[in-house]
Amino acid sequence: MSALAIPNISLNNGRQIPQLGLGVYKVAQGETERTVLDALEAGYRHIDTASFYRNEAEVGSAVRASGTPRDEIFVTTKLWNTDQPRPLEAFEESLERLGLDRVDLYLIHWPQPEHGQAVDVWRALIDIAASGRATSIGVSNFEIEHLEQLIAETGVVPAVNQIEVHPLHQRRELSQFCSDHGIAVEAWGPLSQGKSDLLERPEILAAAEAHGKSPAQVVLHWHVQQGRIIFPKTSRRERLFENADIFDFELSDAEMTAIASLDEQRNFGPDPRAFNDR
Ligand code: NDP
Repeated sequence: MSALAIPNISLNNGRQIPQLGLGVYKVAQGETERTVLDALEAGYRHIDTASFYRNEAEVGSAVRASGTPRDEIFVTTKLWNTDQPRPLEAFEESLERLGLDRVDLYLIHWPQPEHGQAVDVWRALIDIAASGRATSIGVSNFEIEHLEQLIAETGVVPAVNQIEVHPLHQRRELSQFCSDHGIAVEAWGPLSQGKSDLLERPEILAAAEAHGKSPAQVVLHWHVQQGRIIFPKTSRRERLFENADIFDFELSDAEMTAIASLDEQRNFGPDPRAFNDR
């Protein structure tokens, strides 16, 4: 538990991850270090970055400058698509930019099925984990068939699958597959990236009114009540506190059903089966 009383979730290798963290995608360059320092000061202990976000160096400086022991902060970074042919070198470059000697979680950012390299890349991540430089390893944006292939060919089950999930895109079948295989689901875009009217939907507003919470807090709690890991992005100090103050209420069955009805299978990010960015 941190000062904000953020619970931990157990991963399939027995490691613990704080259920809520800060995502730093699109935190402006030059602002990331301050934002991460604010988050750590507020009690966040989990930061989600990626080489693609171009702010690993700022994340690392904030972690080192914070005064919080390294072992108390969970740092995730990711292997970008163009680096799939050179995973080990790319991982080492990430560690160098972060200024850390290990990360807590290293992810394959996208499966890139057209390139057919995911299994080889996964074997490289298995080696990285064995070296102790990534405490846990996982994937992001993997569909069921991509997960099945990794597991069948290596026997190593990813600790997490980080996927787009929010009330407008609930991913029930994929989430069930992950749960059946002991893969923790991390929801990216938990607030639909601010790209929809989600926070104005009557079902969300009614629950917010009933619990004395903001619409964003209702949506974030909806995730954690289903056991997902989240790291909403904000560059605003006051929202760091708002987004973490979500563990003191429960949505009723009726409220959960009402939010379940919002699923439009509407994604705002790329389709993982078709995204081949290189
Ligand atoms: P989010 O769903 O977290 O939405 C972020 C947006 O919501 C920002 O515009 C932010 O604005 C706004 N916001 C934050 N808090 C509130 C609030 N309390 N009330 C109203 N608006 C709010 O989208 P992200 O894409 O950032 O997803 C979260 C994280 O997931 C990323 O930062 C990244 O770490 C990860 N990610 C991973 C991907 C992958 O492919 N693996 C893809 C995309 C994201 P403001 O900053 O002004 O507060």
